[in-house]
Amino acid sequence: MNFKEIKKLDDAYHAETFSRYPIAFERGQGATLVDTEGREYIDFGAGIAVNIFGVNDEAWKAAVIAQLDKIQHNSNYYYCEPQARLAQMLCERTGAKRAFFGNSGAEANECAFKAARKYSFDQYGAGRYKIITLKNSFHGRTLFTLTATGQEAFHKYFGPFAEGFDYAEASMSDIRKKADGATCAVAIECVQGESGVNALDKNFVTALFEFCRERDILLICDEVQSGNGRTGKLFSYEHYGIIPDLVTTAKGLAGGLPIGACLFFDKTEHVLGAGDHGSTFGGNPVCCAAALNVISRITEDFLLEVQGKSAYMRAKLKAFDGVKEVTGLGFMIGLSVEASAKEIAKKCLEGGLLVLTAHDRLRLVPPLNITKREMDEGLTILREVLKS
Ligand SMILES: *Cc1c(COP(=O)(O)O)cnc(C)c1O
Repeated sequence: MNFKEIKKLDDAYHAETFSRYPIAFERGQGATLVDTEGREYIDFGAGIAVNIFGVNDEAWKAAVIAQLDKIQHNSNYYYCEPQARLAQMLCERTGAKRAFFGNSGAEANECAFKAARKYSFDQYGAGRYKIITLKNSFHGRTLFTLTATGQEAFHKYFGPFAEGFDYAEASMSDIRKKADGATCAVAIECVQGESGVNALDKNFVTALFEFCRERDILLICDEVQSGNGRTGKLFSYEHYGIIPDLVTTAKGLAGGLPIGACLFFDKTEHVLGAGDHGSTFGGNPVCCAAALNVISRITEDFLLEVQGKSAYMRAKLKAFDGVKEVTGLGFMIGLSVEASAKEIAKKCLEGGLLVLTAHDRLRLVPPLNITKREMDEGLTILREVLKS
């Protein structure tokens, strides 16, 4: 199909949930994509921080195909080697005790929120159910995770929403005001993605960690976007010197196949027992085989490369005309720009570069294995767009 035909079908039959750019991708290599009309693009978006090794990566494909040659799905009534090995690998790399797998970031967060409430129920009985999230957070699109999302814009139309959420500024004075005897958990993104790529202040995060530990309030780190090497560490909380009680991740974990994970640390290891939670597709063997390939390649050496490449890109961006501020950590880059971010993203696309927006910022989350040539090509396009 050519682009016109695809667009016509989608416009007629797909739900009207997405305002799409007029483009459909067909194939690519690394951080270079090719659309249905044969035009090339440099990819600074990675399918929203998902395609960790870009597209058409040989080793990743081989791992997926090897699993497809065996079995594509089995019920969670049975044991599954890639699932068990992935749980082990994530635990060994983080110090977590156990992992649960779902299919998305929202599901990973649902699992963590359920686990937090169950922990509190087990320790203190009913009534200690409140979960505090941060203003400008983003935790997903299911009703529970929408409610957890601390942005008014998401709290319309679909009510009544789940009870037991409160939203705090990223400051200890506000956390102290909002946390009370009914609070069981605080959830944070150490680097907020959707709301403009804001890295939380280190003093705030360490003070919050101490505050939660003193009151036996669980600290949940939503690493759905910031995890899996994106910020130059395996998970972004590692920049902050804290150990969370629950960690969720998804987007990049399987390098482009749907998966979500909730990691349980010391306190929460035994919180969810048989029948407390589940998923039909969760921990699918093909997705787990893909994630095993991804996580095993995010070595300390690879993370150093990510740090080096992202520092290179940040230094270039800082010097560009029209850039006010460069935010975020590692390859989770926010750009405050003088013009409209949406307009710039559109112009970049016309010039052959894919970038994302987040609130009023540009958001750059390229594949972690992007080459110097691809970075330079993309940066040249962005510089020209920002100049004009
Ligand atoms: C994308 C995202 C989610 C939701 O993930 P889905 O896979 O779309 O459900 C949750 N939290 C954060 C921080 C995200 O960036």
